[in-house]
Amino acid sequence: MAAPETPADVRRWFLAQVQALWPVAGGSVSLRKSPCVRPRCAACAAGEQHASYVLYARRRGRRVTRYVPDAIAAPLERAVQNGRTLHDLIVEAGERYLRALKAQRRG
Ligand SMILES: [Zn+2]
Repeated sequence: MAAPETPADVRRWFLAQVQALWPVAGGSVSLRKSPCVRPRCAACAAGEQHASYVLYARRRGRRVTRYVPDAIAAPLERAVQNGRTLHDLIVEAGERYLRALKAQRRG
């Protein structure tokens, strides 16, 4: 059987993975419809409004909503995907770190 991972092994693995995950973002990118500021807009008058991307996230329990220009929506979406992968990675790192500490204790 292979030697168990040490905490240092887990750290090395984790940092290498994280390095490849930039850029990251939390939350989600969605399309929302909202009215514009123009006084007599046909689209708003017809109830169609205007579709634009927004980033929804939570920071320390507070909801964060940010306008996202169309041209930036795709790269931001990739950052959000990386953010989800990063979260999974943290969970996996925790399990491996725990296993490494247990192996260390057993000597
Ligand atoms: Zn409008």
